[in-house]
Amino acid sequence: MSHPDYYKILGVPRSASEEDIKKAYRKLARKHHPDLNPGDAKAEAEFKKLAEANDVLSDAEKRKNYDTYGDPAGPGAQVPPGFQQDAGFSFEDVFGGFAGGGFGGRPTRRGPERGEDLIHTVRLGFREAFEGTRLSLRVNRSEPCLTCRGTGESGKKQETCRTCGGKGKLGGGSGFLSFGRTCPDCGGRGVRVPACPDCGGAGRLPRQETVAIAIPPGVEDGAKLRVGGKGEAGRRGGGPGDLFLQISMEPDARFERKGANLYVRLPVSFSEAALGAKVDVPTPEGQATIKVPPGTQTGAKLRLKGQGMPIPKGSQRGDLIAEVAVVTPAIQDERSKELLRELADLNDEDVRKQRSASHG
Ligand SMILES: [Zn+2]
Ligand SMILES: [Zn+2]
Repeated sequence: MSHPDYYKILGVPRSASEEDIKKAYRKLARKHHPDLNPGDAKAEAEFKKLAEANDVLSDAEKRKNYDTYGDPAGPGAQVPPGFQQDAGFSFEDVFGGFAGGGFGGRPTRRGPERGEDLIHTVRLGFREAFEGTRLSLRVNRSEPCLTCRGTGESGKKQETCRTCGGKGKLGGGSGFLSFGRTCPDCGGRGVRVPACPDCGGAGRLPRQETVAIAIPPGVEDGAKLRVGGKGEAGRRGGGPGDLFLQISMEPDARFERKGANLYVRLPVSFSEAALGAKVDVPTPEGQATIKVPPGTQTGAKLRLKGQGMPIPKGSQRGDLIAEVAVVTPAIQDERSKELLRELADLNDEDVRKQRSASHG
């Protein structure tokens, strides 16, 4: 997204102070204010540009980013994938900061607006992640008000704003555009269309809904699942936002997970490691037998193909990897000690030879 020359729009030099920017904006905003130019699309467009320029240049952080990178959002600014909001610059964005009040009394000038996304964290145990699961999630969301069809208006004729008594602003000061506190209920117009009695003007109503969700097998920690259309209701005919489930996995006592592979610690006895053996190893389904080859060392990785986690969107599975830990026997009796000494004599091998060789 490229940005216009905000300094040019406000007619100030790049070195302008905060005060200069504020002054320039007020002066131009008065001139192009839509209330003084009713029905003048050009004035309104001009006014929008001014508001955008002011929004950026009066914010130290945004101004610095704009000066440095040409973008108020900073270098490489982007919305994380899966959380793409409506990228348009909405009417509210532009007018929100203006004179401390919005333009709430102007619904006819606004277009449809998509509802906000919702994010819920879901904690899953190992078994649920392995098999997949179905959840019923209670979600606080909103839905469009049927009475006003999401417009927030009652359909009655406009009347004098009761909040400000028709003055368009609250508190002291003089003049309609004194930049005091604009009346939030009529947006400074002094008149308003009475709000829909059912939703109070919001255009949508809160609702608690139970959403049924299928979690696929193999889902990973930190994954985000999108449930389309189950976010907040849109405004003025806009579509609903989405519901995102952020998966948080409980650690498992036996299995450590790396992607679709599972790691399990496999203790083997001294004689099993030396002579080789078939030993049981836990798997997600129960247990399997794994072959420990003769002469296996601590740290050896024995692989059971296809016994790991399911890979989402497919029928394949990762591997189960057993990491061998040789358990040294704690000998007490003389007979065993005798046998071990005999064994040592028979296998007179220097196990540190390689190390000493490599050191010189
Ligand atoms: Zn309503
Ligand atoms: Zn008012």
